[in-house]
Amino acid sequence: MNTRSEFRKGNRRLSKRINGRNPWVWIAMGLIVLVVTLLLWFLLSVGDAQEEGYPQVGDHLHADYSIYICGALELDYPYSEGGIHTHGEGRIHMHPSHSGEAGSNATMARFLAGTGGRLTDTMIETPDGKVFNNGDICPDGRVGNISLKVNGVAKNPIASYVPRDDDILELRFE
Ligand SMILES: [Zn+2]
Ligand SMILES: [Zn+2]
Repeated sequence: MNTRSEFRKGNRRLSKRINGRNPWVWIAMGLIVLVVTLLLWFLLSVGDAQEEGYPQVGDHLHADYSIYICGALELDYPYSEGGIHTHGEGRIHMHPSHSGEAGSNATMARFLAGTGGRLTDTMIETPDGKVFNNGDICPDGRVGNISLKVNGVAKNPIASYVPRDDDILELRFE
């Protein structure tokens, strides 16, 4: 075999490789698009599933709540404002009247705000204006921290939790 035919053969192999790669590039891109589409679809459907049970405008749902501050049960808060409110009997009534207080907006923080208090993941202000931050010391000398249990199971984040129908909510600072 002389150098010339050797060169031609190498050239042919090279051009074959370039041509042969093209369909794979397209297949790879197609696969990436497919995977991304499936992933987005999956994430969106999971998001929808999470929204399930969220209070929507027109719903009227209820959850029981109790709030403990440094071991002491707070008295039921009086009739409060907004679509996520209490009638003063230890329950949260969720009947949102607009989207701003429905769905993922129907949070524990919104309930507390309606009572005149405030709630974040690290702080609670009771309707009578007492403020408790994570790390504050309770009268018994112990360090207090905010926690939320829903039907006996700890939940985090706390303030953005959306109560569902028949939830039993236990919010504690202790
Ligand atoms: Zn009600
Ligand atoms: Zn009501």
